[in-house]
Amino acid sequence: MDTSEEHLLRQAIGLARAAREAGDPPFGSLLAAADGTVLAEERNTVLSDGDITAHPELKLARWAARELDPATAAATTMFTSCQPCGMCAGAIDRSGLGRVVYALSTEQLLALKPGGGFPGFRQDGPALLDEASAVVDGFYT
Ligand SMILES: [Zn+2]
Repeated sequence: MDTSEEHLLRQAIGLARAAREAGDPPFGSLLAAADGTVLAEERNTVLSDGDITAHPELKLARWAARELDPATAAATTMFTSCQPCGMCAGAIDRSGLGRVVYALSTEQLLALKPGGGFPGFRQDGPALLDEASAVVDGFYT
């Protein structure tokens, strides 16, 4: 990582600080073009919005998918104060962003978070293969 990328990562950490100062969880992210131009920036607003999905990485992935053509999205880099969670990683994958640079890893975050991560949930399946397949079959052609 060069000094210009460190500068962008520090900006993402600054957005995390702003989120904390606003009473939200301390996470921030920005999306930069290949030349380092900041295209969009977001901070966590989970508490102030009452929205469990209001992570900055997810908001930026949705913005990119809506506003950028695929080639432009692929040329961008997301700089984020913490490694994206599973929800955000899925959205980033679907948005076609080219790269993510993060400061804290998930393991490093969990070391700072009493009680650790999320409790997880039970999943049962697959089931009703014929009925479920009939709804999907032919959609992806
Ligand atoms: Zn997330």
